[in-house]
Amino acid sequence: MGRRKRNPKRIFVTEKICERKVAEKLNFDEKEAIEEQKEENLSINEVAIDVYSRLKLPLVYPMQHRSLDDSDEEDTVELNFWPRFVFVSNLCLICMERSQETCKSCGMVSYCTVSHMKQDRPKHRGLCKVLTEVCQIEGGLSLLSELNADDYRVYRLKLIEIVQFHLDRPLQLWEKEILLYPRVCCNCHRFSMTLKCCSVCGIGIFCENHDDGHEEWCREFQVFRRVLFMQHKNGYIEPEIPDTFQKEPLHLPDNFDLLVAQLYSRSTYYCNMDCYTYCSLFHISSIPLTTLYSMQISCENWKSIDTFVIHVIGAEFQYECINLHVWEKLFLHLLPNLKHLKLMFVGPELSLPTAPLDLLTAMKMCSLCKSSNRRVKVSFHPKQFYHDFCRSKQFIEPNLVCLFNPGLYRETGFEGRDTWPETIREFCKIKVPVCVTSYTKQEIPREMIRIKSIADVETILEPRKNPFASIKPDRNFVSDDTVPLIYKNYYLAIVKGKS
Ligand SMILES: [Zn+2]
Ligand SMILES: [Zn+2]
Ligand SMILES: [Zn+2]
Ligand SMILES: [Zn+2]
Ligand SMILES: [Zn+2]
Repeated sequence: MGRRKRNPKRIFVTEKICERKVAEKLNFDEKEAIEEQKEENLSINEVAIDVYSRLKLPLVYPMQHRSLDDSDEEDTVELNFWPRFVFVSNLCLICMERSQETCKSCGMVSYCTVSHMKQDRPKHRGLCKVLTEVCQIEGGLSLLSELNADDYRVYRLKLIEIVQFHLDRPLQLWEKEILLYPRVCCNCHRFSMTLKCCSVCGIGIFCENHDDGHEEWCREFQVFRRVLFMQHKNGYIEPEIPDTFQKEPLHLPDNFDLLVAQLYSRSTYYCNMDCYTYCSLFHISSIPLTTLYSMQISCENWKSIDTFVIHVIGAEFQYECINLHVWEKLFLHLLPNLKHLKLMFVGPELSLPTAPLDLLTAMKMCSLCKSSNRRVKVSFHPKQFYHDFCRSKQFIEPNLVCLFNPGLYRETGFEGRDTWPETIREFCKIKVPVCVTSYTKQEIPREMIRIKSIADVETILEPRKNPFASIKPDRNFVSDDTVPLIYKNYYLAIVKGKS
């Protein structure tokens, strides 16, 4: 991870180059589809366009109206992450295009062309030898189809251990994915050299007996592949956030697509937004909007309150604490009554990058907010349990407490200790609304059971699908027998400690 001061000119130049590169990369089919889509777009300006209809659009870059504010010389830090390589068994290990060739030896990695296979050979050789020994010669993959879901999970973790032992080094994350999401039939987990790949999404893989029943997930896998591909080529991109000052407090609709259509109105940037940018927009807006949505459901005075304090518990820097600028546009600007928004991030797993704290918490506000003295104040309370934070001097009574995808039901907790009960007791004691999200529909009832087993709470919002969930898919390992792909903040519930 690197840090650098904002340099708008340089960013602009790199973007231009990337755009050309991507345009060249698109194959013929995709170009054709784009032409069709462009024609369609002329007539669909008024309706919300979902992510699936954006699958074939080429990457768009943010409009440059941010430059209006770039004249002031404020110090800001731009955190610059390049996404790590993600392994998918049927995408080329070099370029992430769909594969045509599988490694003849291990049969577990694949390439778009013979030429990319040859190019990767020197790098792949060492790992290939061990994979071939463990998974083929010693039959590591032959058992898979006989295991139940839990044993299948345990077994894959075991395979990682064995491979690491033979290699005499830890596997990198993407190398682990070769074994976590192996090249086996997605229905029966049988390995063979003649598996077939879904021609639509390019991700689902089947043996000759199981080439049906995949339709339910195919669309989501298409998004998954498209996002990975564009991310691999372009790194993370920062979508432009719709910036509209509301004169009246904006009541959020129950649908993110609609909200975005409403806020961007007829902007061509929005209409042409490709699948990846759109997923990224959802992804970084999900936290502020889920919070605002929860506030509107649970805080009666949301239209009149002028100071609002939010505690985010169990925060992780790379998810909740980057992209803080979104809070100004999608929280503060939507509530004209609100003058001060205070965000407090607490968690034992929260660790800050090595940068001066005042730079990490610095929020660059627009000139309108500045002139009317409106503020978003951020504070980090790293490496701290919430119950300890509550007893510290930094504690300020919150209006809303948020836990994003916390996994409260897991009793392994932090470093093997179950520390949640104390934290749960503490946030229920404050008697303010607590919003809890989860990756899957199956998890949220378990979160509720856990809270209710520790404190007396009333349910303000029964678990429901969160309209402001992220739509950027991730593969699921924890419960892949029920859902192969998961989304941050997918389900939402709100509770409140009883007096
Ligand atoms: Zn390739
Ligand atoms: Zn190989
Ligand atoms: Zn099968
Ligand atoms: Zn498919
Ligand atoms: Zn502002």
